Amino acid sequence: MTTTQVHGNVKELAERAGRDLEHASAPDVLRWAVETFGKKFCVTSSMEDAVVAHLASRVAPGVDVVFLDTGYHFEETIGTRDAVEAVMDVNVITLTPRQSVAEQDAEYGPKLHDRDPDLCCALRKVKPLQQGLTSYEAWATGLRRDESPTRANTPVVGWDARRQKVKVSPIARWTQADVDAYVAEHGVLTNPLLMDGYASVGCAPCTRRVAEGEDARAGRWAGRGKTECGLHG
Ligand code: SF4
Repeated sequence: MTTTQVHGNVKELAERAGRDLEHASAPDVLRWAVETFGKKFCVTSSMEDAVVAHLASRVAPGVDVVFLDTGYHFEETIGTRDAVEAVMDVNVITLTPRQSVAEQDAEYGPKLHDRDPDLCCALRKVKPLQQGLTSYEAWATGLRRDESPTRANTPVVGWDARRQKVKVSPIARWTQADVDAYVAEHGVLTNPLLMDGYASVGCAPCTRRVAEGEDARAGRWAGRGKTECGLHG
């Protein structure tokens, strides 16, 4: 069987699972992923909260949780990563870009995020994640349909054509209220910045607090005509 045929089969598998699991619970979606891909499945987390990592740890204790350390994170985000590693039954794996921020500044000039955020995200997010996911066949995200119009059609299981992998979004159908209720019920770790006016937490230079009534991702790349970092395009 050729690589194209193998990927074609996995693509069909993902699309069928997306239809079959549309109304399944988040743990059932994760159970399907773990039973289908075993150690070739990981969870990714921005450490905005640890909801998906917590859900996955209950289905598959010791599951890999991949975190992308761009070098531009808030201290609170790194602290949340450290706390997750310390208290949850997961295996935290931290990915880093090829260049440090200082090395990038030397090659491209300082504050690339202000001048060309797409290139900065490509160098510090998209490429490291692409490389970090090579040993996995499926990855889970915390994407939710209610976060922004660009995420409104997120399938619970879909085919990530760019990476040729299965992409699992077990809480795609959840609302912010569902997340809040789960966090409260299970005492799940969350980034302290969520209690300080931030609704979505990314790199410090590209994240601001949101005003009452603004959508959750309005504080990301505000005023720059950019809504996504390219990880989910
Ligand atoms: Fe760079 Fe901002 Fe993208 Fe982070 S979010 S990688 S600082 S452009």
